[in-house]
Amino acid sequence: MDSQQKKQTTFKRLIGYIKPYKLAFIAAVIGMIGYAGVDTLFFSQIETLIDDGLTEQNSDILIYGAIFVPFFFIIRGFFNFASSYFLNWVGFKVVTKMRQQLFDHLMKLPVSFHDQHSTGDLISKITYDTQQVAEASSRALLVLVREGAFVIGLLGLMFYQSWQLSLVFLVVGPLIAKVVSVVSKRFRKVSSRIQTAMGNVTTTAEQMINGHKVVVMHEGQKKESKRFSEINNTTRNQNMKLVNTRVISTSVIQFIASLSLSMVLVIASFPEMLGELSAGAFTTLLTSMIMLLRPLKQLTNVNSDFQRGIAAATSVFTILDEPIEIDKGSKVIDRAAGQIEFDDVSFGYQQGDDLALEHVSFNVAPGKTIALVGRSGSGKSTISNLLTRFYDVEQGRILLDGHNINDYKLKCLRRQFALVSQHVTLFNDTIANNIAYGASKDVSKDDIIKAAEQAYVTEFTDNMPKGLDTMVGENGVMLSGGQRQRIAIARALLQDAPILILDEATSALDTESERHIQQALGALRKNRTAIVIAHRLSTIENADEILVMDNGEIIERGTHQQLLDQEGAYSQLYNLQFHGGA
Ligand code: ATP
Ligand code: MG
Repeated sequence: MDSQQKKQTTFKRLIGYIKPYKLAFIAAVIGMIGYAGVDTLFFSQIETLIDDGLTEQNSDILIYGAIFVPFFFIIRGFFNFASSYFLNWVGFKVVTKMRQQLFDHLMKLPVSFHDQHSTGDLISKITYDTQQVAEASSRALLVLVREGAFVIGLLGLMFYQSWQLSLVFLVVGPLIAKVVSVVSKRFRKVSSRIQTAMGNVTTTAEQMINGHKVVVMHEGQKKESKRFSEINNTTRNQNMKLVNTRVISTSVIQFIASLSLSMVLVIASFPEMLGELSAGAFTTLLTSMIMLLRPLKQLTNVNSDFQRGIAAATSVFTILDEPIEIDKGSKVIDRAAGQIEFDDVSFGYQQGDDLALEHVSFNVAPGKTIALVGRSGSGKSTISNLLTRFYDVEQGRILLDGHNINDYKLKCLRRQFALVSQHVTLFNDTIANNIAYGASKDVSKDDIIKAAEQAYVTEFTDNMPKGLDTMVGENGVMLSGGQRQRIAIARALLQDAPILILDEATSALDTESERHIQQALGALRKNRTAIVIAHRLSTIENADEILVMDNGEIIERGTHQQLLDQEGAYSQLYNLQFHGGA
């Protein structure tokens, strides 16, 4: 029952999306009923045509018929247009709204959510699942209302002609309903599998496209192709199952209906019955019964469409129901002084995992520079991730200007940081716009140029015909790693935040450009708090304090000279880098 209830709430929620477009929706429904009405009216005239027109040889009736037939079809066309147009209009409105909601919601979800979901899967929800919701449910609705009304019309006509014969149909009705309900369960299961499979198709394709270079270098084509072919075939299999169920159920239902037809023929053969029925009435009855098969077939398929829509809607709603980033803080400040304190912070990315940070405590005074060094995986980037609240700490506290960072409004907190992270992300836009991305105030072209100069971006853009207005391609593919880093640094420079986090910000630069940028960064650090993460120790020698991390813990701390004098891990590392050993 639980899944049944869930389905009902999904359905109710879906109705909620249609509510704002009530009028268009009603217009569509009127169009559908009108269409069915015209069809029924058409069939009701068969009796007159045969009994009065043909049997009585009344040519007037035939002439009237000739005039009315085109007229019928004009009205029918009009209703058809109204129902299709308004239904699709509402459908596309719903798709658009859902897509936007998904898009907006995905931006608000915590980093941990994105860690756990593949990009392809999420993209497929935005593109495929939303489309499915509208397409499937509007199809289902069209058939349900239009063909449903037609069935009612035909049944009415039949009962009007001979209720005794028509009763047969009522015996068959419940039987058909039973088949439909059995089949619908299967539809739902298969539909949801198809959605998962479509997500896998996008994910696998996206991995191959993104990792194209790795694939060709490691001769992974066969492996990738095999992986994709398996997923591709799963999708096909599931789709075939859907088709199978649909075709078999249609045939079964039509068979049941045909039984009723033969019963009618048997009953009609009784002499009492034969005397009562005119040729026209009997023809109307038979035609109606045969005509009933088509809408009945469509009505049984309605369920597969409907289940497809519900499955897609469930998948969309699951994402929309994911809790967004916790933002309970209310503290708003314009500009932080920049004092940062880690107070006995322990943190693990996932429950049960090893801790990425263990009992980390340190303090940075406003305007000071702290450097984090240590082996790969020792927890340096994690410290940066926690400061910007990409993840929330549960043990220990992180303070900014003496207040827990959870007390700040999230937006306000993040505005205090300019972050150049290990993985530079560029948008498919011009270099200038990438530099200006996220700058709080309206920056002038001059500001951008100044930042570009300071970060040595102009050094390479000057050789480009379009200069700073050059497009960088998707995620900056048209640029070298060092060039990308320089753009990221320029972006941080322009941001003018009180706290600067540089995570391997200059790792891809040659020594000369690095020296120049260090100068610019040095000037920038002057009245800012800075957290500098670097593998190359030369870049952090003049930090106010250096923390040496290992396995999530701070194992040494002090200034460059103090650490050298200690002759511990830092001095070993230093000697290794400067003298190539010893
Ligand atoms: P590097 O110098 O290579 O950048 P790092 O010191 O910055 O290393 P962190 O990125 O802080 O290292 O990682 C610390 C630990 O946390 C590692 O063991 C890593 O496997 C783990 N870790 C990092 N990011 C995640 C994540 N998103 N989910 C789960 N574990 C993670
Ligand atoms: Mg790192």
